[in-house]
Amino acid sequence: MEFSVGTASSSTRRIGVMTSGGDSQGMNGVVRAVVRMSIHMGCEAYAILEGYDGLVRGGDAIKRMYWDDVRGYLSLGGTLIGTKRCREFFERAGRLRAARNMILKGISGLIVCGGDGSLTGADRFRAEWPSLLDELVQTQQLAPDQITPYRHLNICGLVGSIDNDFSGTDATIGCYSSLERICEMVDAVFDTAASHMRGFVIEVMGRHCGWLALMAAIATGADYVFIPEKPPGSDWEEEMCEIVTSHRGRGKRRTIVIISEGAQDVELNRITADQVVQALTEKLDLDTRKTVLGHIQRGGMPSYYDRWLATLQGVEAVKALLEATPDTPSPVVTVRENKILRSDLQECVRLTKSAGAAVQDKDWTKAMKLRDVEFKDYFDSYKLTTSTSEERPRLRLPPEKHMRIAIIHIGAPAAGMNPATRAAVAYCLSRGHTPLAIYNGFPGLQRHHDDEPVGSVRELKWIDVDGWVNQGGSELGTNRSLPSEDLAKTAYCFDLYKFDALFLIGGFEAFTSASQIRNNRDKYPSFRIPLLVLPATISNNVPGTEYSLGSDTCLNTLVGFCDVIRQSASASRRRVFVVETQGGKSGYLATMTGLAVGALAVYTPEDGINMRMLLRDIDFIREDFQDDKGASRAGKIILRNERASQTYTTQMIADVINVEAQGRFDARAAVPAHYQQGMKPSPIDRIRSFKLAIKCMQFLEDNFAGKSQDEINANPLNAAIIGIQGSEAVFSPMGSDYGLEATETDWALRRQINEYWRPIKDVIDILSGRPNDTGGNPYGKLPGSPAEVFRSVAPSRAISPLPQIL
Ligand code: ADP
Repeated sequence: MEFSVGTASSSTRRIGVMTSGGDSQGMNGVVRAVVRMSIHMGCEAYAILEGYDGLVRGGDAIKRMYWDDVRGYLSLGGTLIGTKRCREFFERAGRLRAARNMILKGISGLIVCGGDGSLTGADRFRAEWPSLLDELVQTQQLAPDQITPYRHLNICGLVGSIDNDFSGTDATIGCYSSLERICEMVDAVFDTAASHMRGFVIEVMGRHCGWLALMAAIATGADYVFIPEKPPGSDWEEEMCEIVTSHRGRGKRRTIVIISEGAQDVELNRITADQVVQALTEKLDLDTRKTVLGHIQRGGMPSYYDRWLATLQGVEAVKALLEATPDTPSPVVTVRENKILRSDLQECVRLTKSAGAAVQDKDWTKAMKLRDVEFKDYFDSYKLTTSTSEERPRLRLPPEKHMRIAIIHIGAPAAGMNPATRAAVAYCLSRGHTPLAIYNGFPGLQRHHDDEPVGSVRELKWIDVDGWVNQGGSELGTNRSLPSEDLAKTAYCFDLYKFDALFLIGGFEAFTSASQIRNNRDKYPSFRIPLLVLPATISNNVPGTEYSLGSDTCLNTLVGFCDVIRQSASASRRRVFVVETQGGKSGYLATMTGLAVGALAVYTPEDGINMRMLLRDIDFIREDFQDDKGASRAGKIILRNERASQTYTTQMIADVINVEAQGRFDARAAVPAHYQQGMKPSPIDRIRSFKLAIKCMQFLEDNFAGKSQDEINANPLNAAIIGIQGSEAVFSPMGSDYGLEATETDWALRRQINEYWRPIKDVIDILSGRPNDTGGNPYGKLPGSPAEVFRSVAPSRAISPLPQIL
C-alpha cells in the first residue's frame, strides 16, 4: 500500500485542467489560460491527459505544466492534451481511483472543459467526493491525514462543445468556429446551386440539439430547416415544397435546406437528408443533391470569438476555484451576450437533461425554451422571414399600423450591413410595412432634384435583398457625409418620400447623423420621426453598445492575418511583427486581437506609447526569446492601433526594436489596412445582424406604429440606439440630459466614454507575462502581487441566477 507518494502540502494550490468528451475548437485556449493564470496566481498547473481516462490512470497521465508548455496553443484546433471516452469513470470504482490519483498528486482543484456528459461526470464526482475519500481511508488506500487537506473538492466546469447544447449559456466553446466551417461550406455550395438552379440538402451535426442547424439556416438564408426540438408536422413535405416553390416563384435560383443529423418528426421518427432530397426531387422535379458535412465541422482553427471565450472563461475558472468555499455550489462558467458569468453547475446540468427529456416526451414548447433563452425567438423570426405576408396573412398588421421605414447605411462599410438590411426588409414585408432604401447615404438624398429625380430612394423587394445574407460591404452604398451638409434638402426628401421612421446602420457617423437630425427637429418638422441606430463599424466605438456589427468579422480577419504572418517567421525564427490595426481613436480592435493571438504587447490611443514602455517591452522580448530557446518557431506579435501615438509609428517601433535587438532578433512592420474589413460577414455578425435588425423593427412597431405625432414627440426613445450591454440587448435614448449624447459620448475622440473592454488589456499582459507599467516586477512568470492585478481584471462575482426560462 503506497502512502504519501507525491502528496503536496496543503499550502500549495495545485490546479488540474482537462479536456473531455468531443473535441472542440478553443479547448487549447482554455488550457493556455488556465495554466498561465494558475502560475500567475502562485499555483501549480497540471494537465490531465486524455480527459477522465488520465485521471483514472494517474501517474504520467497527470502532467505538470509550465509557462512555456502552452506556447502557441491559442491558435490550434482540437485539443493538444487529448480527450477520450472513459468507461471506467461511469463506475464508482473508476471515480475512486481518480480521487486517489488527485490526492496523490496534491491536486485540490479541477477544471473540466467538456460537453454535457463530461460536466455531468464532474458534477457526480463532486457530489460523491466525501464518500470517495471515506472509502479510500476505510480500504486503507490512503491514510486519514493524507485526505485531511482535500476534504473539499473544488470543481469548475467550462462548456467545450460544438453543439451548443448546454443550458444556461449562450455559447459553448467551439460552437461558433464550427458554425463558421458550416457557413464556409454552404456559401461554397451557394454558387454552384445558383448556377444550375439546383437544390442542396445539407446535413449538419447535432444529434439532440438543433442550434448549429438553425443558426446555419439563419446565417446562410436557407429556405427550410429541420431541428430535433421543433419537429415539423406530418405534412412537412408539403410545407417545405410550398415555401421552396414560393421562393423560386419570386426569382430565387438556388434552394438550400439544412437538416440536423437528429432531425425527426412529431412522432420521433427520424427524418433523413435522403428523404428530404427525395421529396424535393419527386414533388418539385428539382435537381437536388445531398451534402453531409461530418467531421469537417470540428476542424480548423478556432475563430476569434472562441479564442476570446476560451481565454476569458479559463481565467474566470481559475478565479472561481480560488474563491470557492465548502458552502458555494460548484460553478460552470457561462456567457450571456457579452458577459462572462458563473452559473450553478448542478442546475445547468439538470436543465440540460430536462431539455433532452422534453424532446423524448414530445413537449416541444418546453424543449425550445430550455435550449436557451432566445432559441425560440430565433426560430420564430427565421420562420417569419422565410415567408412574406402574402403567404401568412395572419402575420400582417392592420393598415393603420403600416409604416414607411427608410433604411440608410452610413460611414465605412462593415460586414453585417447587408444581412441586417435583408432581415429588416423581410420582417417589414411580413408585417405589411414598406421598406425604403436610401442609396449612397445622405449625399444620395441631397443630390435630389424635383425635375430630375436621381432615384436614390427605392422600395425594396424580397428578391432584391435575399442574396445579401452573406455579403460583406454595403449594397446600398455608404459614405461618411452627414445630414448637416444639406439639412434643408435632407428634410425635404424625408417629407417627399413620406418616411415614418429612419433606420440608420453604421458607426460613429450614423450616431452623429441621428444626433444632427434630432437636434434639428424644431426647425424641420419632417425630422420628427423615430430615428433608430443599429451600430455597424469595425472600430466598435459607438456609444451605447459593447458590440457593433462588423467588428467580429474584422477581428476574425485580423486574427487570421496574425496567424499567417506569425507562421511566416518559422523559417527565419526570432522575429517580431508590429501589426497596425484600424480603429481610429479606439483601441478595441488592437486589444481584442491581442487577446486572441496572445500578443506580447498592445499599444492603444487610450494608453499612448512612451520610450520607457518601449524599452521595457524590448527587454521583455529579449527575455522571451531567450527563454523559449528556439522551441517556438513562430514569430511574436505586437499590436499597435493606427492612432496610438503620433511619434512612435508602426515602422518606427519596428526600427527601434531592430536597433536594440543587436542582431539577436529582428522586427517587421505589417499593416493590413482595408483588408481588415474582411470578405463575407462572420457567422456571429450574420446572426447578430439578423437578431438586432428584427428587434429594431419590432421596437419601431411596438413604440411608434399608428401613433400620433404628439405620442411620438413624447417618447424619449424617439431617437435611440440598440446595443449589447453586458448580458442584454437594450435600446438607449440619444437625447435629453440622461441620453447617450450627453453622458456616454466622447465627441472629440469619437468613442465611448466608458470603454468596457479596457481591463482586458491586463489579461493580455498577464497571459503573455509582460511586465507591468510600474516597471520591474513582472507579474507573469514571477508572481509579484498578482491578487491585486487580478481583482482589477475580474471583480469578484457570485453565482448568477439563471434567467427565468420556464
Ligand atoms: P461530452 O462531454 O462531449 O458530452 P461524453 O458524453 O462522451 O461527451 O462524456 C465524456 C466523458 O465524461 C465520458 O466518457 C465519461 O468518462 C464522462 N461521463 C459522461 N457522463 C457521465 C456520467 N453520467 N457519470 C460519470 N461520468 C460521465
